Amino acid sequence: MIIAIDGPAASGKGTLARLLAAHFGLPHLDTGLLYRATACALLDEGRPLDDVAAAVAAARGLALRHFDDTRLRTREMGEAASLVAAMPDVRAALIDLQRGFASRPEGAVLDGRDIGTVICPDAPVKIFVTASAETRARRRALELAARGENADYAGILADVRRRDERDSARSFAPLQAAQDAFMLDTTDLDIEQAFRAALEAVERKLALARKLG
Ligand code: C5P
Repeated sequence: MIIAIDGPAASGKGTLARLLAAHFGLPHLDTGLLYRATACALLDEGRPLDDVAAAVAAARGLALRHFDDTRLRTREMGEAASLVAAMPDVRAALIDLQRGFASRPEGAVLDGRDIGTVICPDAPVKIFVTASAETRARRRALELAARGENADYAGILADVRRRDERDSARSFAPLQAAQDAFMLDTTDLDIEQAFRAALEAVERKLALARKLG
């Protein structure tokens, strides 16, 4: 079973993806990390973030490098990732890796921006997770503060809005819900409630698939 989870920055999709993967015993791929790692490799090589050829080479060489997870999850890397993620050639260079992960015999959970629309358009379960920009910025600020990073709310809210705009406006694989995605707004839900809603959506889909098949 493939579970495709998409949504904007800090919507809670990563946590939901991890919880669903643990619940169903499936492997999980946070595809945002691929774009973050590509940007990180470019920065480490001293290349500008608009160097398409170097970005494509970095994306192709990801498997050969080691990355520090804490550094990949910084604000700076999220911002840099959304710049390289707007390059169609970088996205193309990362498709096989993502589809390869999704095609494991037991299935997989992938989360990102274009999983249900581009990477796994035939996934039987698709969830699009949203929350208001203010709620997402608040959550991100708490998360960063817990890691000892700069967590100024106004700056983070501006980051979240800028990334939403860039991810939604790009012409190639923009952030958008698949037509058959279950829409989950987590603005007023805690993680336990959001997980329960997501789980119910998955189980409804599975029950329907069993009935049809
Ligand atoms: O999800 P995360 O915040 O780690 O993603 C970082 C950036 O990578 C996003 O802002 C987005 O631009 C890009 N991304 C993407 N497609 C994905 C996952 C992430 O474009 N499937």
